[in-house]
Amino acid sequence: MNGSYWQIEHGCPQCGAPVTLEETDRLLVCPFCRTRLYLVAEDHFRYHIPPPTAGVDGELLYIPYWRLRGSLFSVNASEVTRRFVDATTLAVNFQGLPFSLGLRPQVLKLRFISPDTQGRFITPDLPFDRAIPGLGAAPKGVFYQNFIGETVSLLHTPLLLRGETLYDAVLGRPISTCTAGDSERLQRSSLSTRRQVRFIPTLCPHCGWDMEGEKDSLVLICRNCNTAWTCPENAFRQVPFAVMTPPAGTGEIAGYIPFWRMRPRIEGMALASYADLIRVANLPKATVPAFETAPLYFWSPAFKVNPVLYSRWAQQMTILRPTGDADDRLPETALYPVTLPLAEAVEGIIIILAQMSADKRKLYPKLAGLRVTLEESRLEYHPFVINHNELIHASLRIALDRTSLTYGARM
Ligand SMILES: [Zn+2]
Ligand SMILES: [Zn+2]
Repeated sequence: MNGSYWQIEHGCPQCGAPVTLEETDRLLVCPFCRTRLYLVAEDHFRYHIPPPTAGVDGELLYIPYWRLRGSLFSVNASEVTRRFVDATTLAVNFQGLPFSLGLRPQVLKLRFISPDTQGRFITPDLPFDRAIPGLGAAPKGVFYQNFIGETVSLLHTPLLLRGETLYDAVLGRPISTCTAGDSERLQRSSLSTRRQVRFIPTLCPHCGWDMEGEKDSLVLICRNCNTAWTCPENAFRQVPFAVMTPPAGTGEIAGYIPFWRMRPRIEGMALASYADLIRVANLPKATVPAFETAPLYFWSPAFKVNPVLYSRWAQQMTILRPTGDADDRLPETALYPVTLPLAEAVEGIIIILAQMSADKRKLYPKLAGLRVTLEESRLEYHPFVINHNELIHASLRIALDRTSLTYGARM
């Protein structure tokens, strides 16, 4: 999971002290006044690279780039391929501008966009899934592909327009000519409403207690009233959860790792029950009548992990179906943070189905026509024990290398 990260500098909304955030942080914790605020964006987080304050001559324009980190899964005639994407690519159709931002400016700290940021912000006119080469319209020979994003944000880089030349405002060198037509188009496309980041106090909506969570966690928990919350838009929403009970005789539980359990409705093929899944995947299991009415569940890691492990864990859990006893009390033991949102986990369902399918020739051409909607979901915390460098699922006995997890070493 190495790659490039940006840092963001923001003044604490409470005391004004500068706070440095990692790109993945969802909690702003002020080291000075101890304020804790949860960060929410309406759709994507929007940042800009601040231009140098001296020597700015010309019209200041901000050009949008999509900032993408995540996994791209493609299904071709014989297999599912996966690769990790870490890219910052141009979000407007404009000849002559660099296609990618590269690593160069990362010594600079980003800022959120606010109403008093000077300059003209250009609206993106390329959706993010068209910014990744090969995504959007699937290339020839690819039946289906999907991007499971960990990070999708917009990063605006400053340019200066002087006469008919665009200059890189940070490096001060010319990068492109800008005809009168280009210039007019840029003027027309300026962002009218600047969507801003919002800061929400981390108080439990039920009982007012201060909620807990790692700084990049998408789910916060209240240990006072035993609830879990996430904030997909602008208010906290309760997340149904279950804490899976370890089998009797399990040794010491090192921690609980989160997975999304999803019950989808799949239109476009006969797949509505566990028995249907057994048939589609040709699992070595006799279908008993009870399976015909057993719900169809898919599992997905609720944490960031490389695409190979993502696929493996989602598939293993979906096949092994860990539907044992569960508790509705949060354990005292460490809870691994939720860093992959449910909406992204849903995006993975067709990929997992493709991997499991026994008759690829028949299923793959149909994949693009399937429609998946979520009927029900819950967050499940699964108990793991430690064995040397591995975390072992307490009931399924499958292992996860600790070094593959961001916080693995801490468990
Ligand atoms: Zn502060
Ligand atoms: Zn509470």
